[in-house]
Amino acid sequence: ISILAIESSCDETSASIIINGKVLNNIVATQSVHEKYGGVVPELASRAHQENIIPVVEEALRTSGINKEQLSAVAFTRGPGLMGALLVGVSFAKAFAFARKIPLIEVNHMQAHVLAHFIEDPKPDFPFICLTVSGGHTQLVLVKSPLQMEVIGETRDDAVGEAFDKTAKLLGLPYPGGPLIDRYAKEGNPRAFEFPITRMPDLDYSFSGIKTAVLYFLRDQLKENPDFISENLADLCASIQYSLIEMLLIKLKAAVKQYRVKEVAIAGGVSANSGLRKTLSDLADQKGWNLYIPKFEYCTDNAAMIAMAAHFKYLKGDFSPMDVTPLAKMKL
Ligand code: ATP
Ligand code: MG
Ligand code: FE
Repeated sequence: ISILAIESSCDETSASIIINGKVLNNIVATQSVHEKYGGVVPELASRAHQENIIPVVEEALRTSGINKEQLSAVAFTRGPGLMGALLVGVSFAKAFAFARKIPLIEVNHMQAHVLAHFIEDPKPDFPFICLTVSGGHTQLVLVKSPLQMEVIGETRDDAVGEAFDKTAKLLGLPYPGGPLIDRYAKEGNPRAFEFPITRMPDLDYSFSGIKTAVLYFLRDQLKENPDFISENLADLCASIQYSLIEMLLIKLKAAVKQYRVKEVAIAGGVSANSGLRKTLSDLADQKGWNLYIPKFEYCTDNAAMIAMAAHFKYLKGDFSPMDVTPLAKMKL
């Protein structure tokens, strides 16, 4: 079974080849056009996907050593994501499947973030709990089998990645600010400033409060000292990151207790955060959890995870019709 997989849900154009469940490569073109706008501009993302998709697919085919005649199926991200961005991947995959007369496999992007854990060893045992933390989502997922997942908790407003990016913007950092907060936080004191830890009912999250808290805090401080941010950047980043990580872990601990599962995983772009990785590793040691953290390249958007999900779907014969359309919102 050899599958070509394509990811185009946001601002990464990516292609990957998987053969018999083994990922051979993961070619990613990251779009830099959005930096100067402080966020992803959907129209520009769509155009950049159109420019990147053929070179990225050609590179994936070339480095895999197989040719397109040998492919058994073509997979793509159906959603959730930006409509114009998804359309590029969906249209490309359809045309490819039609031309080669091979099956088409749609993949749910959030399911794929979880299945990134099956690209390499060690792989979690079922059932496991996955905390998916990305730019658009924050979900606690109970994973019963590769394609059976249940959302047991999620954010009611902003995603945690959004909270990283928006607070970074308030600090004057460029987009995406998450990795920069991570970098400056390493030099700072997490207890220097106190930002709110919002507690929602059940296993749900809320990340919009911290953005407002940081906004007003900075406004007050800047009145006294116009250089407040530059003089305290590392401490500000460390303190913001501390609150965000605390909020994530409080609910993760509650979920593990409630579902009595010791297999715990994290996925999505924010799982690249070194503070989260460190704090979570310590917590797992202390609690006796088996913790699974993906390699950096499989945390942020990539086609290898789409390929992995597609492999599981191929085994079940779960193919899509040729009139399939992208979904900006798509449930797990
Ligand atoms: P979704 O998967 O919900 O559709 P997305 O695909 O845009 O959203 P990802 O690519 O998985 O999200 O993750 C991007 C997010 O991860 C951004 O918000 C970015 O700031 C954040 N991020 C990446 N690296 C780090 C890091 N080291 N620390 C904190 N945040 C990070
Ligand atoms: Mg991205
Ligand atoms: Fe993503």
